[in-house]
Amino acid sequence: RRKIAILTSGGDAPGMNAAVRGVVRTAIMRGCDAYAVHEGYQGLVDGGDMIKKMGWDDVQGYLTTGGTVIGTARCKAFRERWGRLKAAKNLVKNGIDALVVCGGDGSLTGADLFRGEWPDLLEELVQTNELTKDEAATFSHLNIVGLVGSIDNDMSSTDITIGAVTCLHRICESIDSISSTASSHSRAFVVEVMGRHCGWLALMAGIATGADFIFIPERPPSGDNWQDEMCADIKKHRDLGKRKTIVIVCEGAIDSNLQPITAKDLKDLLTDRLHLDTRMTILGHVQRGGKPCAFDRNLATIQGIEAVEAVLASKPDVPSPMIAMCENRTKRIDLMKAVALTGEVAKAIGRKDFVAAMQLRDPA
Ligand code: ATP
Repeated sequence: RRKIAILTSGGDAPGMNAAVRGVVRTAIMRGCDAYAVHEGYQGLVDGGDMIKKMGWDDVQGYLTTGGTVIGTARCKAFRERWGRLKAAKNLVKNGIDALVVCGGDGSLTGADLFRGEWPDLLEELVQTNELTKDEAATFSHLNIVGLVGSIDNDMSSTDITIGAVTCLHRICESIDSISSTASSHSRAFVVEVMGRHCGWLALMAGIATGADFIFIPERPPSGDNWQDEMCADIKKHRDLGKRKTIVIVCEGAIDSNLQPITAKDLKDLLTDRLHLDTRMTILGHVQRGGKPCAFDRNLATIQGIEAVEAVLASKPDVPSPMIAMCENRTKRIDLMKAVALTGEVAKAIGRKDFVAAMQLRDPA
């Protein structure tokens, strides 16, 4: 009987619970035992009660709950070999040979590293008498499947990540609320949204709320006089009778010299140059929280099902898959290739090659 575990790792994203539910129930339906590892990789390292067998009813209510019920953590120990040795021992002792990891690129990098090291880790555990030769022989291969839980939608090679659409809705709701007060007082608002290397949230929210100006890392405002350009645009909108001004800035926004553009810079600019009564709203963690929208519930469910199917179809010599969405279909792609391309996006932005950055994010 196959034993499949799931963990959630890195920043929480709405829909992670639906992914856990999808994996647990599909595993049970396919005749496997399902396990949840609590607190991300920390649970793997600590073992014991942190690795729990899950029944069908244990994931009741997960579909609609925000955050991640089984917990997530940033785990330093898993970055070290000794931590991964403990994690390997705990998996073998529980009879688990397949791990579905739902997290961002860091979490998926850790997962693939773990899989690559697996035979060495088991050999070392046998040498130190932590495992018997028989135990190690039964689990000669670790199956890893990656699900991308990330509100930023920052992973290469997939159209969308679990949590991003809910986060976008939350941002739009917040900007709608801000808009009504902005119109009432004829004010300007600079709204900062999440996204360290990825402007998807800012761009999509800007289109959906009709923002006046948007700042994202992938397309910095051109030239040294972008301030004039922005002020001219906003003045034009005001001259046309608009009573509100909304500027959306992604937390990773930069100018064409790669210098950060902050919400405070923009607020000062609108106040000093255009004499607008300007307020600044950093949306912060409210963007991550709350119930997942229908899209994320369904995306995570479909991907959770596909993750179990990928485990059951896996072969030792085939690279670990990441479950991507391409043109509205699930697709198993090489996890490490997608993670490597994601790292290349930030590097391309760093060398001002913005066209390459977009191609690396969407290589298809
Ligand atoms: P987010 O996009 O929300 O930041 P993430 O998955 O990228 O999510 P990280 O903090 O980078 O978040 O990684 C989460 C955890 O994954 C780390 O705390 C660590 O335990 C593990 N991890 C990350 N990178 C590695 C690595 N190179 N080797 C081993 N483990 C890693």
